[in-house]
Amino acid sequence: MIKRSLKQIADMVSAKNDITPFSDTPISGVTIDSRKIESGNIFIPFKGEHVDGHKYVEAAIASGAAAAFWQEDVPNPPKNLPIIIVEDCLAALQELARKYRQELNVKVVGITGSNGKTTTKDMTASLLSLKYKVQKTEGNFNNHIGLPLTVLSLSEDTEIAVLEMGMSGRGEIEFLTKLACPDAVVITNIGESHLLDLGSREAIAEAKLEILQGLKPGGLAVLHGDEPLLMERINQYKGNIELQTFGRSDSNNLYPIEITQLEQGNRFIVNASSQAFELPVLGTHNILNSLAAMLIARYFSIPFETMSDGLQAVKLTNMRMELVEGRHGEKIINDAYNASPTSMMAAIELVSNLQGYERKILVLGDMLELGPEEEQYHRKIGTALNPKQIDLLFTYGELGTHIVNGAMKVLGENRVFAYLEKEELIKQLERHVNDDTLVLVKASRGMKLEEVVKALQKEN
Ligand code: ATP
Ligand code: MG
Repeated sequence: MIKRSLKQIADMVSAKNDITPFSDTPISGVTIDSRKIESGNIFIPFKGEHVDGHKYVEAAIASGAAAAFWQEDVPNPPKNLPIIIVEDCLAALQELARKYRQELNVKVVGITGSNGKTTTKDMTASLLSLKYKVQKTEGNFNNHIGLPLTVLSLSEDTEIAVLEMGMSGRGEIEFLTKLACPDAVVITNIGESHLLDLGSREAIAEAKLEILQGLKPGGLAVLHGDEPLLMERINQYKGNIELQTFGRSDSNNLYPIEITQLEQGNRFIVNASSQAFELPVLGTHNILNSLAAMLIARYFSIPFETMSDGLQAVKLTNMRMELVEGRHGEKIINDAYNASPTSMMAAIELVSNLQGYERKILVLGDMLELGPEEEQYHRKIGTALNPKQIDLLFTYGELGTHIVNGAMKVLGENRVFAYLEKEELIKQLERHVNDDTLVLVKASRGMKLEEVVKALQKEN
C-alpha cells in the first residue's frame, strides 16, 4: 500500500472520533489478522462468530500496528491509542479500498466465471508481466474481504492489477466490480457451481454478468463465446463496451485451430497468429483459459507473437491439474482442489484423450452444493464415460454412488467401485496401479480427496 497518514485514512472511512493527536502517523498497510501484524499497518478487527477481533486491538498495537479500527457498537474503546472509530469495520475496510482504488493510477482487470478464475488470473498476470509491473490476487482472495485487501496491497509502481472476483449469490460480483472499477473483465464460463444458491444456470449467468456493471465505459469485456447464456444477454451492454470472445468454435474472435497434447501440457495454434504456443498445463479447458488471458494481454498492447514466454511461465496453484507420480510409478492428475459437473467433464475429457497408458482410472468424489438435481448430475457423469478410454472407476462418498450407478451401464459392473470409506478405497485402488497407469483424482474441496493422492505417494 502507498503510505497514507492516519488523518487521511480517518477521512476516507468517515471516522466517528477525533484522531488529532495521531493525525500524522504514517500507515503503510492493512491487516485483519492480529497474528500477522507488520509494523506500520493498521489493524482491522472483525466481530466473528467465535472470536471478537477487538480483544486483540491493544496487543496488535503493542506488537507494531500503527493504529486500529474500532466498531462503535463495541464498548470501551481503548483510550489514548491511535484508534479510528467506525460504524462497521467490514464496511470501513471496503470503503477504504474503494477510495484507495480511485486514487490510484492503475489499470485493473477483473476476472469471474464458474470455473477457471484463479487459473485465468494467473495466466493473465503472467502474460501482462511481459511488459508491465503487475500485481494479482494472492491465491483465492476473491471475496468481499479478500478483494478489498488485495486492492489495499497495491503498490505505487504497479501498472496493472489482476483481480479475481468470486461469489456465492446475486449482487456480490456487482459489489466487487463497483469497488474495483476494472478497465477490462473476463467471464471464463458458466457452470453449475452455486446452483444451490441461485437456482438455475440462467441466474448464474446473470450473476456473473454483473461484472460489467463496474467496467469503465468503453472497457473490454472478454467472454466465453460458446456459452449462449452469456451471448444472449450481452446485447444490452453493447455500444458501451468493447466485446471480444474466445472459445472452441470458429465464431469467436480467438479460437484454437490445432491442439497437440504434450506429456505435461499442450501445444496449440490459434486463428489469429501463425505461431505455435506451448502451455505447460494439462487440459483443453486450460487452453480456453489462456485464450481469455491472451485477449486481455493484446488489449494492453502485447502482440500475440510475443506471448510464448508468458504462457511458458504459467504455473498453477496446487491441486489444480497437478501431475505427480505415485509410489508404484503411476501418474496421478491431482485435481482435488474442487469439482463441479463442468470441471469434472473437462478433467475426464483430458484423461480420455491422453494416450500412452495401459490403464486409466478415475477416482471421483462427491460434487457438493448442486441443489435438488444433484443425483442426476452425478449419474450423468457416469453415463458420459467412454468405456474404450476409461478402464476403472472408483468413487468416494454418498453422491459418488450415483456416478457408479450411471457408469454401470457403460463400463459394466466389474469396472466400477463405490466406497464410503477412504481407507478402503485406497487399499483397493493400490491393487490396480502400476507404472503404466494414469489416475485422475477429483472431487469437491470438502471431500479432501488429496488424501488419496498422498496415500498413493507415501513410501511404505
Ligand atoms: P474457485 O471458485 O474455487 O475460486 P476458480 O474459478 O478460481 O475456483 P480454478 O481454481 O482456476 O477455478 O480451477 C478449479 C478447477 O476448475 C480446476 O482444477 C479445473 O479442474 C477446473 N477448471 C479450470 N478452468 C476450467 C474451465 N475453463 N472449464 C471447466 N473447468 C475448469
Ligand atoms: Mg479461485
